[in-house]
Amino acid sequence: MATVKSYGATGTVTGSCHLIKIGSISILVDCGMFQGENEDYNYDDFEFNPKNIDYLVLTHAHIDHIGRVPKLVKDGFNGTIILTIPTFEIAEIMLLDCAVIAEEEYKTLYRKAQRIGTEQSIQKPLYTKEDVQNVFSKKFIKLDYKEKYKISSILNLTLYDAGHILGSAFVSFDFRDENLKKRVVFSGDIGSKNRLILDSLDFLNKADTLFIESTYGDRVHKDLAVSIEEFKKAIINTINAEGNVIIPSFALERTQEILWLLRLMYEKKELPRCKVFLDSPLAIKATYIYENFPCHLNDKVGLYASLGDSPFMFPWVKYSQKKADSMKINDVKSKAIIIAGSGMCSGGRVMHHLKQRLWNPNNAIIFVGFQVSGTLGRDIVDGANFVKIYTDKIAVKSKVYTINGFSAHADKNDLLDWMSHFKKLSKVCLVHGELEKMKIFKKEIFTKLEIKAHIMKKAQSVFV
Ligand SMILES: [Zn+2]
Repeated sequence: MATVKSYGATGTVTGSCHLIKIGSISILVDCGMFQGENEDYNYDDFEFNPKNIDYLVLTHAHIDHIGRVPKLVKDGFNGTIILTIPTFEIAEIMLLDCAVIAEEEYKTLYRKAQRIGTEQSIQKPLYTKEDVQNVFSKKFIKLDYKEKYKISSILNLTLYDAGHILGSAFVSFDFRDENLKKRVVFSGDIGSKNRLILDSLDFLNKADTLFIESTYGDRVHKDLAVSIEEFKKAIINTINAEGNVIIPSFALERTQEILWLLRLMYEKKELPRCKVFLDSPLAIKATYIYENFPCHLNDKVGLYASLGDSPFMFPWVKYSQKKADSMKINDVKSKAIIIAGSGMCSGGRVMHHLKQRLWNPNNAIIFVGFQVSGTLGRDIVDGANFVKIYTDKIAVKSKVYTINGFSAHADKNDLLDWMSHFKKLSKVCLVHGELEKMKIFKKEIFTKLEIKAHIMKKAQSVFV
């Protein structure tokens, strides 16, 4: 008998964590962090015993899919972790970055609280750097896409390319249940078609049960080609007017896409003379990992990488690793393109660049990713005239561009198209989406595929 319970990403897009029990074997698919308004859940005890989990499968290295793995290990998980090789490498830098930021934040808050005697109320970080290092002392099985891994005599597991970020996978469990052959698929996060730098996702022609993400199950993305033109225009106009461009960017995938687009513009002589700074130690590390996996990149980008020519580098690009290098960018008065994190301007080096340049009408800020409500990025996108950066009030006089077509997530049509390849699909369970969007997606699935999808509730048991 096989059952699934979801302990995260139910009615929300974060905290992915699904437990599948097949016979006597317990397998957790993802162990992500809750983010935004559900952040406090991260401190709750797991609703299952981590000591009883035999395998942990990680679909990809976004924090909302891997962010609680160090806590899982700290709480007793001693099983085997299954993932792709790029996910292993990216997970290490992402989790370490997460631990370092949390420890720094804790120290700052603790110091401030000490002055008023409330330091006991400051919550300790979820885990430390040492806890992250303990994760990487566990047993790992690193799989290629489509490589079958035999878990037991009746159960095989296979990872397929999900086309979302480097190394991302969807998981297929093939097993015998009361002499019936069954296949249960977990989508992880699914990428959109025609990605800028990645190979396209895999399609499978059979599954009995599908657990599918529904982040954008309610909408169709803006055309990528239109977004690229908007992006180019914003860059060219600003540089030609002697201004500077700030691009708040996510370290994974979006940064590499932006660098690739700039390189193409440079090669086609569309890019006016300028200086390009990648000012994010995490994004720099991620970019090096991308360069190491040409076989996972699309043909054109992969060809550059396989020839040892970084697709993300050209003579005008400079990587700013150290803090001092980052500060030096302030000396560049015009014609600079600064790519820095965090992508939603909720911290990181982009903050000091905004402080330095946001007040100047010659400059431009280009948002290339979704801005969550409550972040500085969202305030700027929503048209704030002034913003507070640390303790300073800064006028927003730069031009603000919001480019919406670069999503790493499949939209409604992409998801339905991907699902339509599974023949004889009898059960569809929706996860990883806001409740209202899931309801819309559920209707779409019924209209297009004539399948009654089920919206997963937290800790509810589903037979598969
Ligand atoms: Zn993701």
